[in-house]
Amino acid sequence: MQTYMKNDRLRKLRNIGIIAHIDAGKTTTTEQILFHTGETHRLGSVDDGTTVTDFLPQERERGITIQSAVITCEWADHQINLIDTPGHIDFTAEVQRSLRVLDGGVVLFDGVAGVEPQSETVWRQADRYGVPRIAFVNKMDRVGASLERTVSMIRDRLSAHPISVQVPIGREASFQGVIDLIEMKAIFFKDHGSPEIKEIPSDLLPAVRRRREQMIEALADVDDDIALAYVEGEELDSDALVEALRRATIASEAVPVLCGSALHNQGIYLLLDAIVRFLPSPLNIDPITAYAPKQDEHVLCVPRDDAPLVAQVFKISRDRYMGKLSFVRVYSGVMRRGMTILNAATGQSERVGRLVRMHADRREQVEEIRAGDLGGLLGCKLATTGQTISTPERPLVLERISFPDPVLNISVATNGSGRDKFEAALRQLSEEDPTLSVRHNEETGETVLSGMGELHLEVVIDRLLREFGVDVSARAPRVAYRETISRKVCVEGRQVKQTGGHGQYAVVELELEPLAPGTGFVFEDAIRRGVVPKEFIRAVESGIVEAMKEGPLAKAPLVDIKATLVDGKYHETDSSDMAFRLAGASALREGVRRAGPLLLEPIMKLEVVAPLDYTGDVIRDLSSRAAKVTRIELTETGVQVITAQAPLARMFAYATSLRSVTHGRGTFMMEFSEYAPVSEEALQEVLQPSYP
Ligand code: GDP
Repeated sequence: MQTYMKNDRLRKLRNIGIIAHIDAGKTTTTEQILFHTGETHRLGSVDDGTTVTDFLPQERERGITIQSAVITCEWADHQINLIDTPGHIDFTAEVQRSLRVLDGGVVLFDGVAGVEPQSETVWRQADRYGVPRIAFVNKMDRVGASLERTVSMIRDRLSAHPISVQVPIGREASFQGVIDLIEMKAIFFKDHGSPEIKEIPSDLLPAVRRRREQMIEALADVDDDIALAYVEGEELDSDALVEALRRATIASEAVPVLCGSALHNQGIYLLLDAIVRFLPSPLNIDPITAYAPKQDEHVLCVPRDDAPLVAQVFKISRDRYMGKLSFVRVYSGVMRRGMTILNAATGQSERVGRLVRMHADRREQVEEIRAGDLGGLLGCKLATTGQTISTPERPLVLERISFPDPVLNISVATNGSGRDKFEAALRQLSEEDPTLSVRHNEETGETVLSGMGELHLEVVIDRLLREFGVDVSARAPRVAYRETISRKVCVEGRQVKQTGGHGQYAVVELELEPLAPGTGFVFEDAIRRGVVPKEFIRAVESGIVEAMKEGPLAKAPLVDIKATLVDGKYHETDSSDMAFRLAGASALREGVRRAGPLLLEPIMKLEVVAPLDYTGDVIRDLSSRAAKVTRIELTETGVQVITAQAPLARMFAYATSLRSVTHGRGTFMMEFSEYAPVSEEALQEVLQPSYP
């Protein structure tokens, strides 16, 4: 009985996100869902800035959702945790961390534009995380909207296997309902009431039968049971079709496609039904693996209440009334109020304070958050975003969510009196956002913020000013350079001072070699016959790591280097950790100088969308910024998509320049692609003495 109850709860749980790029209608759809599930009593509107999910003032102003919160609602006896995923590419980290905690997604498409380049970006991200999904083709009321065209674009551009489960009734302004191909019923939308279910109008019947046939054929391509029944000419009932569609969706072999208009409350009920029917519960998802440091073993985190607690913080935000709120997903076990929790990575432990479940219009206090579920933890001090919470009885850590490294730096300062407030605000911001890093430059006394792009840093500075009331001034942002080496060298590092008393003695021989881009730093200990005793080897490594912080060219951090400790010498009394650290550091510094050091800069991938007439001007502007155009494509809707690679250093204020070149009609997305060597000409500029 116990097991049955538990499985029943989990079977009726959906952790889902609405995945969409900006403007596809995510906020409007979310509002409709919350309205229909009885969570709100008044519909918010994006256009008035009164929605529930957009928390921050500047989100409303900019019309983008930056924060990712989770809201719980109920539909058809199921609990749905709606995890908000932001659509802006500068906030990739937010998207990634929300994709990691959700079990399934609803991808929104604009029925007029179909699959846009930005849709491809969010789709690929969902692919990367293996998120099963269904598609909702929104804005069917708009002139030019087409379900059929969007479905074929999903097939062709996204290489997915879309299966339409609906046929729209009426087009554009007269769009008024859909035929449900599974139940074979006509559903007419009513304003804010339940939809009206009718028999399929007889004039539509032949076409609808053909569509149903196509749906079954598409399903037979990926499901053996359906294929068999189809070949044998068996009549398939709706339960069999739902089951097969569910299996195919969960296996990421098919994407059921629905349509509607969120703005006019059309199709939302059916979307909620589809979430419950097709998207996975936590029981359908492969359990993730945690590492138990004490036992040095890996364990599966099954969604069971009686397993040890494993939870991950995926978002930290502040609530004006309640203070710090950490959103967690509990993978295994139960998080209870008052229990002692541990962050195994830092060794810190504390008691669980209040636990909450967030609804659209209220916060519900709860006693526990059980396996598979999501919720909020108030005033938790021990974990930052991405970290794992377990218990002192069974310390466990999940693989960290990996975030891309920051590519842009900006120096900020505050006037003397606001210093404490400034520092507290920065601590809080970096705790909430793992892609923001804060560094104090001792030499210049400046504070340097590093982030993912211009918009990311603008938002941070905006929050400092408005939300925290800190009087900050910022300098122009600068690219975050890196350095590496281009060839293998062998080098000796010595730290020898033996004049009277306790001396210092350490000699190390290092082999340095370049590694593939993105590898970072690798240290290997190849010492034989104990010529350097074990206890000093760690010291050598930490000296190297310290010296990697600044390269010889532009004082930028060194990356993608392997250092092998091949030989060395020590002295019984005069050797120390300190001596070996210094020897390691000086070997690295000398070695890098001799190994053909290179300056690396971030190269961004860019997708510019503009009307055909402006193609020439857009490309000219891009060429003047040393961009390499890699693809030019004309979409079916007559807009040109230009894909390019460009050094970030040349892309400042691109938004303004694109606006002026295209008279406000062009849009773009920019995402970090790779670090690459700086060109000869650019190198001279960067290495100007003015560069700090
Ligand atoms: P988000 O950026 O994805 O959150 O998109 P929003 O929900 O903010 O919607 C972007 C714009 O599209 C807003 O002006 C909405 O009013 C509009 N919109 C959303 N859904 C529909 C729809 O179904 N039909 C039409 N015509 N407009 C819509």
